[in-house]
Amino acid sequence: MIPVADATARILAQVAAPTPPEALPLVEALGQVLAEDIRAPLDVPPADNSAVDGYAVRGADLAPRGSAALRVVGDLPAGSVYAGTIGPGEALRIMTGAPVPSGADTVVPKELATVEGECVRLDPVGVGANVRARGEDVRAGTLVLAHGMVLRPQELGLLASLGRRDVAVHRRPRVGLLSTGDEVVEPGAPRRPGQIYDANRFSLFGLVEQAGGRPLDLGIVPDLRAELRARLEDAAGRADVVLTSGGVSVGDYDLVKAVLAEIGGIDFWQVAMQPGRPLAVGRIRGSHFFGLPGNPVASVLCFLLFVRPALWKLAGRRDLEPLRFTATATEAMTKRPGRREFKRGILRFTARGWEVATTGPQGSGILSSVVAANCLIVLEEARADVRPGESVLVEPL
Ligand code: AMP
Ligand code: MG
Repeated sequence: MIPVADATARILAQVAAPTPPEALPLVEALGQVLAEDIRAPLDVPPADNSAVDGYAVRGADLAPRGSAALRVVGDLPAGSVYAGTIGPGEALRIMTGAPVPSGADTVVPKELATVEGECVRLDPVGVGANVRARGEDVRAGTLVLAHGMVLRPQELGLLASLGRRDVAVHRRPRVGLLSTGDEVVEPGAPRRPGQIYDANRFSLFGLVEQAGGRPLDLGIVPDLRAELRARLEDAAGRADVVLTSGGVSVGDYDLVKAVLAEIGGIDFWQVAMQPGRPLAVGRIRGSHFFGLPGNPVASVLCFLLFVRPALWKLAGRRDLEPLRFTATATEAMTKRPGRREFKRGILRFTARGWEVATTGPQGSGILSSVVAANCLIVLEEARADVRPGESVLVEPL
């Protein structure tokens, strides 16, 4: 048996080059991995501009105590530029976002102004107040986004503020999904005694989408060697990554390992973890292959631990660490030393900080334990039973 961390490291070592870049409109790039470094071609904002609606003046004209009466020389809406220069004793009515005119260095908010005919009486503000400096958000020439980062809504906004309409991102890896097992039938199809509806292909579909991949539904394969072989070869021809569930344990009909040994390279590992021990990893021609366990909880967990970082790396992502932090256990948990165990947990923020309990029965076939969960509780190899009040690692789902 190998530790989880070794299995992850070996898998990541297999993923060499990321998928190629493609240019996408910003509105299609959310959640994808940036494939270029972005340097700002311009200052944002492009000019000193007013942060408020008010009066642009020379700061020196304001009376340090009491108010000053200045002559109003014009009116400047956002989107326009004032052609003249503000001289001593003058004020220009200015709207938020309009460029501060030459001569002026300060804006007095409207709330501190009283109009008196041709003049305006202004209460004092500090010199330079209410002016947003050119380039205070982004300075021309600076590296603002680096390749390998995931584009979130704020990055799309920043790119747009730099004038970009398109951006280079890595093509989403195509991930073929196959379920194996004579007992597994398509949801909604007639189900004979002894058969169950396919759960895994649908959990995996969602996991692939969330990890930035493009799922490719390749259906269910019966436990027939020749058919499994043909379907896997076909899948490898169409996808960057092929995922199966089921057929990797030691039963008489667990054919995935044997077929993989014939058509590709296979590493079969017993990973020291609970749930989800059996895992087949390898290649079929140019594609990466993962044979995930059939038990629904184990297949979700093996995806999160082994497939997700591989997909992230394949999509060009640089940070492959999931978010983890500690919480206080509010109940006792059994744990066998020597393997890493993953409980499904409910994490709550209370007056005492983060607290976590399990979702109840933790069998690897109990998919509702994942449905009830908002986190995984990660109990490291060396650890034994957990007592209430101990600190444990959690990973939000
Ligand atoms: P196996 O590794 O093929 O022996 O499968 C282990 C367990 O997972 C068995 O109880 C299977 O019936 C179940 N199983 C396998 N594939 C699926 C699936 N796609 N959806 C739900 N359960 C499955
Ligand atoms: Mg099976």
